[in-house]
Amino acid sequence: MIPQTCQPPSPSPFPGNIAVLGASGSIGTAALEVIAASGGVLRAAALSVHHDTAKLAEAACRFRPAVVAVADQHADRAPLSRLPAGTEVLFGPESLETIARRADVDTVLCAVVGCAGLRSTLAAVEAGKTLALANKESLVTGGELVMDAVRRRGAALFPVDSEHSAIYQSLRARSAAADPLVAGQEVKSLVLTASGGPFKDRTAEELKSVTIGEALAHPTWKMGKKITIDSATMMNKAFELVEACWLFGITPDRIEVMIHPQSVIHSMVEFIDSAVVAQLSPPDMRLPIQLALYRGRRLGGPARRFDWRQPLSFEMVPVDEDRFPAIRLGREVASRGGSCGAVVNAANETAVEAFLSGRLPFHKIVAACQAVLGYHQFEAHPTLDRLFELDAWARKETLKWISL
Ligand code: MG
Repeated sequence: MIPQTCQPPSPSPFPGNIAVLGASGSIGTAALEVIAASGGVLRAAALSVHHDTAKLAEAACRFRPAVVAVADQHADRAPLSRLPAGTEVLFGPESLETIARRADVDTVLCAVVGCAGLRSTLAAVEAGKTLALANKESLVTGGELVMDAVRRRGAALFPVDSEHSAIYQSLRARSAAADPLVAGQEVKSLVLTASGGPFKDRTAEELKSVTIGEALAHPTWKMGKKITIDSATMMNKAFELVEACWLFGITPDRIEVMIHPQSVIHSMVEFIDSAVVAQLSPPDMRLPIQLALYRGRRLGGPARRFDWRQPLSFEMVPVDEDRFPAIRLGREVASRGGSCGAVVNAANETAVEAFLSGRLPFHKIVAACQAVLGYHQFEAHPTLDRLFELDAWARKETLKWISL
């Protein structure tokens, strides 16, 4: 599924036309830095944003994509007058799928926030594109649909989430010719590392009085608000656990979660002979993004390096699932599958919004998700349309639960 390093270099140019979906977010911005540093090997063929047309226009002037898309119909269109002449402009949520299918795109980087990313992820895979996947919700909500499409279409999928990229890299330490996306029999367990967020040392009692400002101050990664809160509740890790199960075909009982505050070991694979292989690097998303856009090849790039003249030390402790019940919830979602991911993801998005607007205390975010999961009628194999109906249902139920 990935190019083997022993193959002779291909005479044709590298397929480096990238569609960056979610170009104004932290992953999208980092991806544009990787593209800029590639010396023309990678090109931004298409860019999309949700509503930040000012950032879109700025990026388009610099990268000259053939097409840009704005998902939000109501976004301010004035900045688009600055687009280079001849740039095609699309509007509306479906425009991301249109971009993902374009003939002049080789790789789709899906860095959209939320379950809206699922449709463009599926469009990219169905169109035979290489998928660089940063949108967790695609797998949390629609893991079965996405992985079925990947297998059916023989598509190449490269994880961009730093933990899954680390597992992907560590799995390469297996015997030759193993599928990079199947953990297989040589693997005993996958070990996800978590920074622990800002509250790793707080007691359950102290977690009840967390403020919005405290929750938004992540110690190691600078990210959007939603994912920063998910990191503080550890719901982000719960979703990564679900994501890992789908990506690597492994059951949740074979995934461990370790708190590792320095965020330099991005995750590990424990093999059946007791060897543990890890991927280390300074926390910098440009590395996993670059590895995905280069389709698993290693080339020089802009990611930060360790300074080997400085001491390097780190700690690692098991996560306390009583203080961070999100992890237990993630295991339940991963083992039941079906409609559970769509419901918990939607409940969490709604609960995080309520927390950020001061309507829900921090420690009730995961409780809201657990409650709504408990109310829902389980469905084993929901269709794409059904997943979006379940998403809408879960949002309403969560709002009701919050107002109780
Ligand atoms: Mg991650």
